[in-house]
Amino acid sequence: MAALQEKRSSEERRHKSIQNGAQTSQGQWGRAWEVDWFSLASILFLLMFAPLIVYYFIMSCDQYQCSLITPLVDLLMGNTHLSDIWNKTPTLTYKAAGIYILWVTFQVILYVFIPDFCHKFLPGYVGGIQEGAVTPAGVVNKYEINGLQAWIITHVLWFANACYFHCFSPTIIFDNWIPLLWCANILGYVVSTFAMLKGYFFPTNAKDCKFTGNFFYDYMMGIEFNPRIGKWFDFKLFFNGRPGIVAWTLINLSYAAKQQELYGQVTNSMILVNVLQGIYVLDFFWNEAWYLKTIDICHDHFGWYLGWGDCVWLPYLYTLQGLYLVYHPVQLGTANAVGILILGLVGYYIFRVTNHQKDLFRRTNGNCKIWGRKPEYIECSYTSVDGTKYYSKLMTSGFWGWARHFNYTGDLMGSLAYCLTCGFAHILPYFYIVYMAILLTHRCIRDEHRCFSKYGKDWKRYTTKVPYRLIPGMF
Ligand code: NDP
Repeated sequence: MAALQEKRSSEERRHKSIQNGAQTSQGQWGRAWEVDWFSLASILFLLMFAPLIVYYFIMSCDQYQCSLITPLVDLLMGNTHLSDIWNKTPTLTYKAAGIYILWVTFQVILYVFIPDFCHKFLPGYVGGIQEGAVTPAGVVNKYEINGLQAWIITHVLWFANACYFHCFSPTIIFDNWIPLLWCANILGYVVSTFAMLKGYFFPTNAKDCKFTGNFFYDYMMGIEFNPRIGKWFDFKLFFNGRPGIVAWTLINLSYAAKQQELYGQVTNSMILVNVLQGIYVLDFFWNEAWYLKTIDICHDHFGWYLGWGDCVWLPYLYTLQGLYLVYHPVQLGTANAVGILILGLVGYYIFRVTNHQKDLFRRTNGNCKIWGRKPEYIECSYTSVDGTKYYSKLMTSGFWGWARHFNYTGDLMGSLAYCLTCGFAHILPYFYIVYMAILLTHRCIRDEHRCFSKYGKDWKRYTTKVPYRLIPGMF
């Protein structure tokens, strides 16, 4: 069995690495081979508590008007018991299961059976068959990029139903939100467990599997790098984009419809959330080919972190602002609304331009213009597992000369704008900015660790030239 052989050689590699006293070496620049106690503790914490955190947030809106403190106080004071809260929680229903199965099946059909046609008539859009980055084993995967078309078809059908056909209410998602949570959890666990077994018994590419020897770490962070079924069903591309990100805008639309139903109007804060997050989602699908070069695809293996995260964490916690606004319809003053819109748009501009600069630079191998000038860069090299040497470049011009992750800074500004739409009465909507700040700072450190493992002294030269991570002059 190729995967089991790879497991054995993984272990040998790990022993050699420890004997040499080297944590990482060139040719081993994918995800970690060893698990330190801090990573293990974090993983165990997340495996145990992440599903409870999601439940707690959604339950607190359902039962406590989105107050995160009141349920805790009630529990501590003995005013309520866990069993009372649990008994009031909606259970899994056949209706929710039916909706969820239809939803996921529809997205699978759009992904697998409808080749991209958008790139044939949308100027500047890169869709159809595209190549990913070189994996640690030296493989270059091909992907069918058709997310934009899946998003458009899904939303056209949604609006057609809301305006003409009326087969179901546009509030359907909100109305079944907790029963759907159980369905999303089932899918998240099934997919992650399947991915783990697949990594052991029938991996897509055995050389791109990693076994740390720690069951929990492997389950959480994944074994296979790019698990696939058949030639085209790529787990990472499918689960991250759809059902997770296609659902994001539909969920927000369902919240807006609920506001309309409950209060007879949609507030400007709800419109801002729909517009700003809608831009972010559309940007993701417009640039899906670029996404093939991001850390999720180029570095992360597919385990619970991505599988469960895409099914549950993303659709439930990234949409908290809209959910909150159903319970607390905030009508912002004009100055506040305009200020938030500007913050969101400037954040988006920085996020997009920074990502675009890197993409353009890498696609043209540096033969392009950044802010009207030839880009400056540092030449670097790395080797894959089989010992092949590759050459690359790290740009030091444009926003990439200001900070090493200015794209994250723009993302954080946008995230703050979403939260500010909700005013300051509750902390629940601010979970997103806190979470994004932790996620992106951790991601920044994780990425730099990986880049150092990959590029060695060349990465040091780069960090000397661009000393700041997120905020020039500060961090
Ligand atoms: P980046 O797009 O910043 O990619 C990092 C990689 O780019 C590095 O590993 C390295 O890869 C390469 N690189 C680093 N520095 C340079 C340079 N100076 N010149 C050229 N290439 C360089 O990170 P992510 O993939 O994490 O993020 C992509 C976007 O997605 C970000 O804008 C982020 O904000 C967003 N994001 C959003 C999340 C959300 O939940 N909303 C979650 C995660 C990300 P190589 O090995 O090729 O050299």
